[in-house]
Amino acid sequence: MHAVRCCGGEAWPALGLGTWRFGEDPAQRGAEVAALRAAFEMGFRLIDTAEMYGEGGAERVVGQALAESLRAGTVRREEVRIVSKVYPHHASAEGVRQACARSLERLGIDRIDLYLLHWRGDIPLQQTLDGFERLKAEGKIGAWGVSNFDLDDMQELRGLDAGHNCATNQVYYAASSRGVEFDLLPWMQRHAMPLMAYSPLDEGKLARHAKLAALAAPLGLSAAQLALAWVLRLPNVLAIPKAGRLPHLRDNLAAADVQLDAGTLAAIDALFAPPQRRQPLAMI
Ligand code: NDP
Repeated sequence: MHAVRCCGGEAWPALGLGTWRFGEDPAQRGAEVAALRAAFEMGFRLIDTAEMYGEGGAERVVGQALAESLRAGTVRREEVRIVSKVYPHHASAEGVRQACARSLERLGIDRIDLYLLHWRGDIPLQQTLDGFERLKAEGKIGAWGVSNFDLDDMQELRGLDAGHNCATNQVYYAASSRGVEFDLLPWMQRHAMPLMAYSPLDEGKLARHAKLAALAAPLGLSAAQLALAWVLRLPNVLAIPKAGRLPHLRDNLAAADVQLDAGTLAAIDALFAPPQRRQPLAMI
């Protein structure tokens, strides 16, 4: 799988695994841990989670799967990248310290590789950045970034103390939601900041999209694989589709190595038109 330079030049796998809706139902926990363990076995090395998902439940599932995979020798900690996110209402300098400590405890690790502000709230951004920088200095996080920030938020962030240390902006980006291509993505590319695409399958809708499936079939791909390969066509974009089923995990991993030709890209443009004007950032 190709890598994306992230978090101070580290090589991050372009494709990761999302965990939203994990950790909500205790009856599902065994299956969720098994899916994550299988994902590690297949080669996934980037996991996205958040304190919000299952109110800590998803982080616990990730922590258990990681611990079991480490014990089994499936993965080494240093090759796994864990991304988690802090609620905006916890994002004061002291709040992020406490929230990070709770996330570390649930994840069973001593460092979150990338820690994101989940979306912008009422707490002044500089306080959040001060908290993030302190966590970084203490080694509790490897890097920090934001999520759901539109262009004006990014410009403001960049002007703050340590604002240039922002490692990524995780946003909704899928073939069916391309607004970021107009201004936010070019701005991030100019600043050599990778974009982390969430809901790249549009919450599964693209996997069931008949016209996309018709385009994918002659290429030997599923609609989901075509949707993922399309998001990953750009050199500094990462994607974190969520999948709980093994065939989906396998499908998605294989998609990370697919190169699309110009004809296919044009056909996708015809199905999902690129933005012609600025659009407010779409969020899920
Ligand atoms: P996705 O676009 O990743 O779609 C997930 C759905 O697609 C699931 O129902 C999954 O099914 C299905 N699916 C996955 N792979 C395949 C496949 N190969 N074929 C068919 N169906 C497939 O949606 P999400 O909203 O979950 O986004 C991904 C991740 O992004 C989240 O889990 C979360 O980590 C992050 N996120 C971040 C947000 C933020 O505000 N920062 C907001 C939203 C998401 P199944 O599980 O049954 O395999």
